[in-house]
Amino acid sequence: MLGDRCTPTDRVESDSKGLQAKVSSRFRQIVLCYHAVSDGWTHPLSVPPALFERQIRTLLLRGLRPVSADDVLRRSRRSFHVTFDDAYSSVTAAMPILDRLHVPATIFACADYADEGAPLTVPELSHEAAVTPLELATMTWDDLRALAKRGIEIGSHTLAHPHLPNLGDAELFRELRDSRLRFEDEIGLPCRLLSYPYGEHDSRVREAARRAGYRAAFALFRNSPIKVDLFAFPRVDIYRRDNAIMTTIKTSPLYGPALAFLRLAHVR
Ligand SMILES: [Zn+2]
Repeated sequence: MLGDRCTPTDRVESDSKGLQAKVSSRFRQIVLCYHAVSDGWTHPLSVPPALFERQIRTLLLRGLRPVSADDVLRRSRRSFHVTFDDAYSSVTAAMPILDRLHVPATIFACADYADEGAPLTVPELSHEAAVTPLELATMTWDDLRALAKRGIEIGSHTLAHPHLPNLGDAELFRELRDSRLRFEDEIGLPCRLLSYPYGEHDSRVREAARRAGYRAAFALFRNSPIKVDLFAFPRVDIYRRDNAIMTTIKTSPLYGPALAFLRLAHVR
């Protein structure tokens, strides 16, 4: 499903430069950012499987072509790619839907949590950790390896899900490089893609991601640079409240430019 995900890491840098040159606009490709897929967790980060399927079918009905991460970075026309941040165990529920609809996906996991499939107990989810700890369980290395065998791309979401812009240089580089090496060691494939925890990045973080050997890094529309940057590739974050109409609005060609305009107007 993911044609050239075995690209040797030593070709990453020149590959990135080639891709960068091809990127001229940031609003034609749609990369969706999901988190959990569960009926049982009513948090905004969690989309029920039936709603997830409706949202994906909405894009397919509009003629958008589901493509691999590589193709979306190469800017295939009218295309979309699905990503999941945090690698919650519940994302397993989305796999039969993606298989049935022939939709490629990437899962971004945190290496320190994958050691035991530990719940993602970041401070921002402390309430949920107390009330619904099982919903915060994450995939183990075995889970991730099994998905990689099925053609799901596995990317890094760092080691421990920190606020990257707050880290010192050494710790920042360790989170990015060491997580990539852990993924390559555990999964047995090049780890080429990164997504920033909380979608947070700045020029120093983006440069560190480049130096750490990634091919591209994903952010969110609301905090991506106006100019396209392969190391802050914008994604549309989809939540539980997003019905078919809202999904259509958020993935329309006007949504990105509208957000950019509002941000510019706000800065002024
Ligand atoms: Zn995350």
